[in-house]
Amino acid sequence: MKTTYNFNAGPCILPKEAIKTGIDALQDFNNSGMSIVEISHRSKDWEAVMNECRALWKELLHIPDNYEVLFLGGGASLQFCMVPMNLLNRKAAYLETGVWAKKAIKEAKAFGEVVTVASSAESTFNHIPKDFNIPADADYFHITTNNTIYGTEIHTDMDSPVPLVADMSSDIMSRPVNVSKYALIYGGAQKNVGPAGVTFVIIRKDILGKVSRHIPSMLNYQIHIEGESMFNTPPVFPIFIMTQTLKWLKKLGGVEAIRKINREKADLLYGEIDRNPLFKGTAAKEDRSVMNVCFVMAPGYESLEAGFMDFAKSRGMVGIKGHRSVGGFRASIYNACPKENVQALVNCMQEFEKTHK
Ligand SMILES: *Cc1c(COP(=O)(O)O)cnc(C)c1O
Repeated sequence: MKTTYNFNAGPCILPKEAIKTGIDALQDFNNSGMSIVEISHRSKDWEAVMNECRALWKELLHIPDNYEVLFLGGGASLQFCMVPMNLLNRKAAYLETGVWAKKAIKEAKAFGEVVTVASSAESTFNHIPKDFNIPADADYFHITTNNTIYGTEIHTDMDSPVPLVADMSSDIMSRPVNVSKYALIYGGAQKNVGPAGVTFVIIRKDILGKVSRHIPSMLNYQIHIEGESMFNTPPVFPIFIMTQTLKWLKKLGGVEAIRKINREKADLLYGEIDRNPLFKGTAAKEDRSVMNVCFVMAPGYESLEAGFMDFAKSRGMVGIKGHRSVGGFRASIYNACPKENVQALVNCMQEFEKTHK
């Protein structure tokens, strides 16, 4: 297989052993003589996978007993409307820290009053706003903990006077989270915990049942809780790969261990960006994401952008083009991205510096 250094923002790199176990299960699941995608989702063997997956989530994130973990379809994008549909009675508050937050705000507006407590839009979302007031009469406060496109991250579990809802699509399982500070946490799996096709929702049960509108069954959290994420046919293969990914994470030492590794990787790359006169980071230092590292050519070197892209590509770097709204480069260094890959990118930046300074 070709050597690549995969820095894709999502779908992203996954542990090799999760992929390998997936290939085996696609061929013959548990010596059943059938593929995992051919068996009944009501079978004992499948039920065991669901139970294992749920148990791994609860164990790895120390999720308290009054929470449920759901595995749904529709991506994080469907949660942008499911959250307000299930929780917004009158008014909700949102922190606007990027494109994903904006999309969540847009969907919520269909269900009630939406207050944007602060926004960093005017500075291309290069930082997390710090000064804002969360209205005490809001039904919930919504944040995006990691802004995948802009490379900013909320590093602490913040206090909120109203139920806190977080889109953690791109930093879930990258660090410990104090789940009890949140009423609901959701995200698409494809950034850090699995392939596209499954969405995780961690939900504190007492926040439900407070809206009066009719909620269609498939969009109703309560229905999915009662159905144990099997109200309809679940995305079996993505859930299976997610389970293998979480097993890999557990073996590694869980979120406490991966946080240390992730910080080392991020320090290595940001260190090079700050040292190398050709490059410049785009996010405010205190808000720098541990997962998505955004950088551009430094002033005076702008004309070298295409040249560096070609140079990096020729050395096997994949997926480092920045999002069109930021430009430059973005290296996504999720859990399964080995430190050697980050080192390879750093070496690449250093070689490029030697030939172009
Ligand atoms: C990718 C992403 C989304 C969208 O996820 P889908 O599963 O594709 O709908 C939402 N929020 C954040 C923070 C993301 O990174």
